[in-house]
Amino acid sequence: MNRLKDKTAIVTGGSRGIGEAIAHRLADEGARVAVCASRSLDRAQAVAEAIESRGGSALALQADVSSATDVGELFKTVLDRWGGLDILVNNAGIARDGLLMRLKPGDWDAVLDVNLKGAFLCMQAAVRPMMRARSGRIINISSVTGLMGNPGQAGYTAAKSGLIGLTKTAAKELASREITANVVAPGYIPTEMTEKLPEQLKEKILEQVPLGTPGKPEDIAAAVAFLASCDAAYITGQVLVVDGGMVM
Ligand code: NDP
Repeated sequence: MNRLKDKTAIVTGGSRGIGEAIAHRLADEGARVAVCASRSLDRAQAVAEAIESRGGSALALQADVSSATDVGELFKTVLDRWGGLDILVNNAGIARDGLLMRLKPGDWDAVLDVNLKGAFLCMQAAVRPMMRARSGRIINISSVTGLMGNPGQAGYTAAKSGLIGLTKTAAKELASREITANVVAPGYIPTEMTEKLPEQLKEKILEQVPLGTPGKPEDIAAAVAFLASCDAAYITGQVLVVDGGMVM
């Protein structure tokens, strides 16, 4: 499929896991992709090189999404290089878990800063060029835990629920400019983020998945590519849950 030919995309947290799969999928569908990471620029570079080696167009960029300065520079670089922005995927995320009673305020701040404020800063930077073009796609990666809550993840679930409210507000504010904003909420996807979970907990999570297997980063990437494409032109303010049936 070549649904994203000549489109320009930024994928935050594109250096590994779900973001890496999203970067590859958008590039495979024809988009030029800026692959962003805060600490693992070398891995973002490897993703960009892999895309280019397959004939795609990609750029690896360092930016901490919780820093307004970094986000400003990230968007300036992309706009200077490619002249516009069609697709923003807010995928960068961290988890710092702890029961509500014990969660350290510093961990709360760090999780909210990356997962929620980071998306807000990137959306704010994306809106101007998208409004000028009278088109754009914003896709925010939340989580099923933002819909269900999850013991031990007060900060993370607050951020992921917040992302849904933020996306719906953006969808309403930007609809008249033909910019859509949607959420993809993944279920359990084995990545470096989830590999630290105890085996027992992983088994318990899988018991809640009717399809019986964990998801793959590519499953999330397919949903993102759909929402970024012309096939989703009439979809905005929605939460697309990709979880093997876990939430229903
Ligand atoms: P990973 O930990 O594998 O990857 C996280 C990515 O985010 C990395 O590229 C990381 O790069 C980047 N990142 C972290 N902090 C920042 C920052 N401050 N600025 C910019 N980039 C940053 O996670 P996953 O691939 O598993 O998760 C991707 C998204 O999907 C996250 O938002 C996560 O919450 C969500 N999700 C994941 C699920 C799962 O089961 N895996 C389930 C539901 C949602 P670097 O370290 O270099 O900054």
